[in-house]
Amino acid sequence: MKAAVYRGPHNIKIEEVPEPEVKGRRVLVKFKSGSICGTDMHFYRGEWKLKNGRILGHDACGVREDTGERVVMVPVVNCGHCYFCLRGYPSLCMRAKLYGLTRDGFFAESKSMMPRSLIPLPSNVSDEEAAIVEPVALALRVLNHLQPNLGDWVTVLGQGPIGLLMTQIALMKGCRVIAVDLEDYRLELSEKYGADAVINAKKEDVPKAVRKLTKMGSDFVIEAAGTSKTVEQTPFLVRKAGKVALVGESEGYLNLGDADEVQFFTVYLSPVEYPSAVELISRKLVDVKGLITHRFKLDEFEKALKTVDNPAEKPLKVVITQ
Ligand SMILES: [Zn+2]
Ligand SMILES: [Zn+2]
Repeated sequence: MKAAVYRGPHNIKIEEVPEPEVKGRRVLVKFKSGSICGTDMHFYRGEWKLKNGRILGHDACGVREDTGERVVMVPVVNCGHCYFCLRGYPSLCMRAKLYGLTRDGFFAESKSMMPRSLIPLPSNVSDEEAAIVEPVALALRVLNHLQPNLGDWVTVLGQGPIGLLMTQIALMKGCRVIAVDLEDYRLELSEKYGADAVINAKKEDVPKAVRKLTKMGSDFVIEAAGTSKTVEQTPFLVRKAGKVALVGESEGYLNLGDADEVQFFTVYLSPVEYPSAVELISRKLVDVKGLITHRFKLDEFEKALKTVDNPAEKPLKVVITQ
């Protein structure tokens, strides 16, 4: 079968690989659609390391061969009984298998999966929508953790797919959202989704603009741009005793001189919110379809990666189909 295999930075190609073994209670899932994520791009650009030969992909749906059911594949398999699992942190499981990272991922014609990692798809969720569940689950995780009150200010740095989903879900929670990005085409979408204010960081001083809007600083700040520069900006945006979620990048040197009692946390992946994420898409409360800018076949995987890497293409979510 064909799969997207990592061979090194800027060297991810479609290769012929052995069919997966379907043993025990496992079932075969035939790939239908998946999407490329910032994590895949970190590997592609050589910013993060990955094992040579690893199959990429952690956000995808397919069809169960045994039942014919369409399903979303959950990329984290946790053990259920280690220190972190027992304390309610399955994404930190000490024996976790992470598809597309520590195990072969979903960008392959088929995948052997445990049934408990498969979520059935309602018929009103299309294959390409079901290819974009992971960032919805992450956005839910972050906003559930922040526990905002109605009218709280949430500043979202970066309006790529993850940032735009943070914007959508923060608004759904009754927050006022300040969306920040370098690109106007992305900020236009933030406005379309209802952001209360948009800031183009190329044109405006972000800390000044956020202070002007919020007076005391933003109750919550979400870093979804994925740069150490934006990480380092967060203490200057958040109000005292506010909270900062680092989801795009977590490296950088924080100057916490004025950030009295601010809490910082990182989060990258949330298996727990997958069922709710699918439900929100099905109920049309979250729009993922509007984030899709490009579609490619699995065969055209390299072209898809190059598109995500080319700002001139104005990419948001790039979807891969069988
Ligand atoms: Zn991802
Ligand atoms: Zn565990």
